[in-house]
Amino acid sequence: MLEVRIERAALATMLASTREVFSNETYGLLLGKKSQKVAEVLHAVPCQVADRKRYEVSCNGKTRKLEEVLRSFEGRDFQVLGDFHSHPVLRNQSFSEYSEISDSDHDDIEKDEIYALITARLVDSKKYDIRYAQITPGIAGRWSDLYFNLKVYAWRNECECFSPAPVKCRGIKIKRK
Ligand SMILES: [Zn+2]
Repeated sequence: MLEVRIERAALATMLASTREVFSNETYGLLLGKKSQKVAEVLHAVPCQVADRKRYEVSCNGKTRKLEEVLRSFEGRDFQVLGDFHSHPVLRNQSFSEYSEISDSDHDDIEKDEIYALITARLVDSKKYDIRYAQITPGIAGRWSDLYFNLKVYAWRNECECFSPAPVKCRGIKIKRK
């Protein structure tokens, strides 16, 4: 199964982008390196022209330019690995209900790419407490006033489906409950 390693700077960019446009969804592309077993996310590039809405973020062809330019830089040092988007959750909504990719997300995905989903809600606490989640193979925690759960979906031949891949982020320790 593919393991996903995320650079701290890429994680910070995804969280900042999620927080910046809260409570709309954010969208961007992931850059890095990939082998059969490991996908290394080195950078996350937020898309400035995505149509961000409460329950949807769409590209409508406008993000094509972003992808086109990034792909023209592809080389041994990086390639476009896939994308990221967020599911903002309001206080009266169920967090778990939004922490999976939706049916419409499914329509846009391609087998050889990875898809990061950040489910997030605003909290009063300003603790910095990021950890690997023990329940799901992702990263969860509080970062500033954001409580988040990050999953990275990858295609699995065994089940012929997209499922969350094991995620690691350097500098973030496993914290057992
Ligand atoms: Zn979604």
